[in-house]
Amino acid sequence: MATLQIQPHNYRAVRKGDRQVLLHVPTTSIFELDPAASELLGLFEATPAVSADDIQSRFDGRYTPAELCDSLSDFIDLGIVAPQPKHYEIPARIVERSPLKTLVLTLTTGCNLGCSYCYREDLTSPKNSSVMDFQTGARSIDLLMDEACENERVGIVFFGGEPLTRIAVIRDLVEYAEDKAAAAGKEAEFSLTTNATLLTDEIIDFLDAHRFGITVSIDGDQAQHDRHRRTIAGGGTYRTVAMRVKRLLERYKSKPVGARVTLASGNLDVAAIYKHLHDELGFFEVGFAPATAGPDSPVGLSREELDIVFEAFKALGREYISEAKRGRRHGFGNMQQLMTDLWMGTRKVLPCGAGVGLLAVGTSGKISLCHRFTGSGLETFGDVDNGIARESLTQFMTRAQAPHGACQVCPARSLCAGGCYHESYSRSGDPFQPTFEYCDQIRAWTAFGLEAFGEIALANPAFFNAALEQRSALQ
Ligand code: SF4
Ligand code: SF4
Repeated sequence: MATLQIQPHNYRAVRKGDRQVLLHVPTTSIFELDPAASELLGLFEATPAVSADDIQSRFDGRYTPAELCDSLSDFIDLGIVAPQPKHYEIPARIVERSPLKTLVLTLTTGCNLGCSYCYREDLTSPKNSSVMDFQTGARSIDLLMDEACENERVGIVFFGGEPLTRIAVIRDLVEYAEDKAAAAGKEAEFSLTTNATLLTDEIIDFLDAHRFGITVSIDGDQAQHDRHRRTIAGGGTYRTVAMRVKRLLERYKSKPVGARVTLASGNLDVAAIYKHLHDELGFFEVGFAPATAGPDSPVGLSREELDIVFEAFKALGREYISEAKRGRRHGFGNMQQLMTDLWMGTRKVLPCGAGVGLLAVGTSGKISLCHRFTGSGLETFGDVDNGIARESLTQFMTRAQAPHGACQVCPARSLCAGGCYHESYSRSGDPFQPTFEYCDQIRAWTAFGLEAFGEIALANPAFFNAALEQRSALQ
């Protein structure tokens, strides 16, 4: 045997006592190592180039040759050790036609709020907004039914601006979509994200009757929320939102309701925000995302602020672990997502479903990669009258599968795959240029997730099935 070297970009390992689990990065597979494999990995990690003699002299007599050969050949097959640095190249696939699962309808560019961090390039007040009329919405739904191919369930997401400023058209489109879906032998599922200010009992009952998945944008208690989420005139919105949320959570029965928090400069107290939204207001799950902002934006998070957020995520993640070990659900959405990805063996070659399963339609009927790109400067991919522009979409998706050199050797690549196209586009104007500012945190968050996963799996393996089942109720 020539010498072999460890390939650190292809795995992460975590030890708890005398047990060790290993994440195989290219496939997001998780293994518990037996003692021979665990010690062998230790030898490779401590030695730059390992020969057959090194293995023999280290382990002779303690493990059988068969045990060592099995472990070594597994490591070689997985690319965890190799004669020289080895990349797992996943060849780009030509995506000529990918069945649609979800279509996002941008009903309006208008919103009754004027949040300081809103990413919409074309945001206006409801009075000055461009809106999607019923006919355009109906043609979008026709397109979704045609392009869904054999998918039996299709998702329609109502988006804005604030989608509830267009509740009349939502009602008409829901009826249309349900009829269309029934005729096509499919089931239509609806969802929306709302600022909650326009919710009435009647609207809540309508959404409930049609089993909408609802996410409320809310940033914490009054002081936290009102820092950035204000009316167009500049007034705070928390009191109205909290009152409507209370009514929503009392009245809404068909699905659990989630909260989505945007972390922007000055609003970083993740633990307090979680406590207020989950424990006090009663949201089922609370997810956090940093504001999308260009490098000079006053609302974007600085490097120091990102570090603060990451430490707070880990602290909340540790609460999640301790609850999971006792078989109890915790509502920290980012951790739930990470555990779900690891449990499902998510292995991304693209950062998200945009362009392959998910598309968005703008108010005029133009098709965009996702909801965040409607009204942006990025090229569109056809329209609802003439259908999807397959050639340009195929080119985009093929280009998206050529990872940046740094991503090819990144241990977080199977869960990140280069990051959100829109985040990249907002920062650099190029949807394929990874936002390297976040990479350290993404890698550290993935490593934290693996440790958490290993710890929960070793203490309470039944947790994952139960937690995933409960979470699927959100969708
Ligand atoms: S964007 Fe950064 S964290 Fe994501 S895969 Fe690329 S190098 Fe890794
Ligand atoms: S491009 Fe970004 S915003 Fe759009 S769907 Fe993908 S992850 Fe979400």
